[in-house]
Amino acid sequence: MKNHSELIRTKLSDKQMRENVSNAMHTLQNNRKKLVDAKFNDWDGLRAKAKKAKNNALFTLKDRILEFEKNATKNGMQVHFANSKEDACEIIYQLMIEKNIKKVLKQKSMATEEIGLNHYLENKGLKAVETDLGELILQLGGEAPVHIVVPAIHKNRYEIGELFAEKLGASKENEPEKLNAIARKHLRNQFESLEMGISGANFAISKAGAIWLIENEGNGRMCTTAPDIHVSVCGIEKLVETFSDAATTDTLLTPSATGQFIPAYNNIITGPRKEGELDGPKEMHIILFNNHRTNILSHEDYYEALRCIRCGACMNFCPVYDKIGGHSYDAVYPGPIGEVISPQLFGMDKHGDIVTLCSLCGRCSEVCPVCIPLDSMIRKLRRDKVGEGGDNAPLGANELEHSKLESYGFEKFASLATSPKVWRTAMGNASKFNWLLQSLGTSLPVLKNWANYKKLPNLKGNLYDELKTLEGVKYE
Ligand code: SF4
Repeated sequence: MKNHSELIRTKLSDKQMRENVSNAMHTLQNNRKKLVDAKFNDWDGLRAKAKKAKNNALFTLKDRILEFEKNATKNGMQVHFANSKEDACEIIYQLMIEKNIKKVLKQKSMATEEIGLNHYLENKGLKAVETDLGELILQLGGEAPVHIVVPAIHKNRYEIGELFAEKLGASKENEPEKLNAIARKHLRNQFESLEMGISGANFAISKAGAIWLIENEGNGRMCTTAPDIHVSVCGIEKLVETFSDAATTDTLLTPSATGQFIPAYNNIITGPRKEGELDGPKEMHIILFNNHRTNILSHEDYYEALRCIRCGACMNFCPVYDKIGGHSYDAVYPGPIGEVISPQLFGMDKHGDIVTLCSLCGRCSEVCPVCIPLDSMIRKLRRDKVGEGGDNAPLGANELEHSKLESYGFEKFASLATSPKVWRTAMGNASKFNWLLQSLGTSLPVLKNWANYKKLPNLKGNLYDELKTLEGVKYE
């Protein structure tokens, strides 16, 4: 936690990063608001329909997996199953060894980030070349994505111009068109020479045995058609039953993500090149991976997180993410959805501290296109983090060393807040202790962290009497 606090402190002091992220988030928020108001008569009705479609797939997941395997195989794809992230990487590594391939092309994919593919291959002396502009910027700068949709949003065009000049030997530019041209020229040669392309999948349609990929740059289309072999890495929660289910959910995705009505490219892939076709991969593999998703599915408090379509709207609207940026979470998935799934995919003991990076304002749940109750899940994860979650604790929660002070604080607060008599007395007399709060507040543990960044509240008058006067509140 100490290192994590330090990391957040460093990011908070990075004014340029904060400005870049904040500007970008506000643009994305406005784009979404304008589009939803202008183009959708029944946005909430569509959200409910998408929620139903995703739930249907989750509640019948075993059948969906088997159906997908049968139909995708019929279409000529080779379906692989991986339980862990290492298993998924190993399947790709073995394919590369079998075909004597040293480098692969990659489309932007959070699934491959989650399984740590680039590092895995690097440790084996192999390489993955990022072809998405944002991911290319990160690869050149040796950084992790800061956001699940716009991975290099923390960098402005001047910083990118300098990076291209330094790493690609290009002339120093800062106009978006010129920067794009540099990246395009650099990537063009790669597309022509590599034999294996790796992608994620936005949806895997079980009835059709097909995958659906959305993107804006066309690099995904190149990665999945130019090389002889295409490998798609897909978490099992990406399964939906029908094209109609995928289309409903897809209609919500880019409006929520970037405020675009539709993405520049919708790629629907039904298998490798067929007899007589002139292009497309000759071989196609799909890796369906679990990595603890079935644990999440079995938990009544958290299974809804598997509906996530990775649109990033929850982070675009999060007031905490906006201030600290995605790197502060030190997790593959940042922001509100990251707070819910990162601890469960990678362990509460490793990522449990990020559940505190939330003001519980609820904006994330309001904007989530598939109605995931993120704020209440984050609250429940905080309960699990202090060992109050009961038997079915998320991954790694039992390995967590709980802060005694935190547990003590919660215990005392619970006994105060659940006893009406004690609560009223405390509220009625709180102002008598204001001098104590003001004089000791900046040195008491926990409170001093708060007081470093915020003014301590002034406890004046009789809080209980004041509360009673609030309109709409009924006191007995
Ligand atoms: S939780 Fe909802 S808002 Fe956040 S990325 Fe997933 S689908 Fe989008």
